[in-house]
Amino acid sequence: MTPEKILADAQRRIDDLAPALYIGGGFVPSTSAETIEVTNPGTGARLGVAANGTAADVDAAVSAARTALPAWARTTPGARAEALFRFADVVDEHAELLAALEALNVGKSYAYATYEIPLISDCFRFMAGAARTAQAPAPGQYVAGQLSYIRREPVGVIGAITPWNFPLLMAAWKIAPALAAGNTMVLKPSVLTPLSTLVLAGLATGVLPDGVLNVVTGAGATVGRAMSHHDGIDMMALTGGVGSGRQVAAGAATTVKRVHLELGGKAPVVVFPDADLDLLVQTLIAVGYGNAGQDCGAATRVICHEDVRDRLLEALTAAARQLRSGNAAAGEEFELGPLISGAHRSRVAAMVDQARQDGARVVLGGEMPAGPGFFYPATILADVAPGTEMAREEVFGPVISVETFAAEAEALSKANDVEYGLAASVWTRDQARALRFTEELAFGSVWVNSHLSFASEMPWNGFGKSGYGRDNSAYALDDYTRTKHVMLPIGTPDGS
Ligand code: NAD
Repeated sequence: MTPEKILADAQRRIDDLAPALYIGGGFVPSTSAETIEVTNPGTGARLGVAANGTAADVDAAVSAARTALPAWARTTPGARAEALFRFADVVDEHAELLAALEALNVGKSYAYATYEIPLISDCFRFMAGAARTAQAPAPGQYVAGQLSYIRREPVGVIGAITPWNFPLLMAAWKIAPALAAGNTMVLKPSVLTPLSTLVLAGLATGVLPDGVLNVVTGAGATVGRAMSHHDGIDMMALTGGVGSGRQVAAGAATTVKRVHLELGGKAPVVVFPDADLDLLVQTLIAVGYGNAGQDCGAATRVICHEDVRDRLLEALTAAARQLRSGNAAAGEEFELGPLISGAHRSRVAAMVDQARQDGARVVLGGEMPAGPGFFYPATILADVAPGTEMAREEVFGPVISVETFAAEAEALSKANDVEYGLAASVWTRDQARALRFTEELAFGSVWVNSHLSFASEMPWNGFGKSGYGRDNSAYALDDYTRTKHVMLPIGTPDGS
């Protein structure tokens, strides 16, 4: 099928979706008749509607998750793995539909969205396998005559809240480890992008037992808040901004539940004169402007040696000028999609204006285009001063800022001069220098001569204000389990 046909089918699927929640293994109406208008950011036009859920809907979803919990928690890891493998297969079978939904709602090109689906099914497959490999200290007599062993148990009902930039991938990063560990879940997608998550949940019918996965759409301030404060939820997991993280942690504190936070980032890209500039520019184009820069690990804060700055600016500007914008709904091929909303675009534009006032030089872009959709051009800012908003705060847009350094220690101190600690990269052919940076950069993922490459086997997590949860890898599975120490008297053969 052509992308145009796949996208048209996905739009029909959206048109057929009555505003509903996914609770207890099926779609049910919200307790409120209110709906959320969902927009195509490429045109600004209405894409569809979703239910504007309420605290009462959260109660119903928690009740379904609690009912499903004992049986799911008692299944063997092998049986859970089987279900998750089947779910991964179902995701792959519906790859075109899911990619099209993601493209229509986030505004990314269909081609870009298709790369995300295998990452989603791989996440389910990895967690299915990892579920069968729980680790703990060996059982033994750590106190003479007493046998100790560890049980890895699910935490209970997980409340998960996801952002709009990668709605399905971020949902998978929560659902897969939580369910693999034997928990059940209530998930709230972003109010801006609820559609693909609802469709994904619908695909779970008959694959996962009813009530294991529930989805309530609605606003953070109502549904998200009700979840964080809910007595029937044992742990909250959020991917989102720092402000939402604070609110979720504060709500969770009222019932002392566990919290798992994946928050914002401000990834430095440290460039030495011996870096492979062609590869660097390619990478900046792919993961600085990819998804319109709306990526928590986006390579958008270049800190380059003063000897290489002009060459880099020239090559990056030439490459960034080639980026095409387009409307995903029309099946167009493009590299630079729109921002998610008008409000977000205004925020990005205001940050660029502030950078100008703080002395930055606009090398490319920086002007809001006329026309439909929430587009913002590929922008490059040079001479960004340390300590300014542009150097320290997350833009979440297609804006690459460039700072310079003269000495290695200065590069390191500039790179670490942020409150976030999610992702960073260093670009040099000098391996010893690269290793020094991997030790000193205070970020949860550090790449040498690449940026934003993932593996399901490796953790994704932040330091500092980027939060304290681990997605992906066996560490994520650990985060969704609790350890119980069991001790029983077995005596000794001589009766002592
Ligand atoms: P956001 O914080 O606005 O929203 C995230 C989710 O939190 C949404 O579902 C929202 O409805 C909900 N929410 C908002 N207020 C809430 C509250 N008071 N209580 C409970 N839930 C609430 O974030 P966003 O704009 O959707 O996404 C962008 C942010 O997410 C960026 O800061 C980005 O860096 C971050 N992000 C982080 C990662 C990561 O892995 N660390 C990945 C993707 C995005």
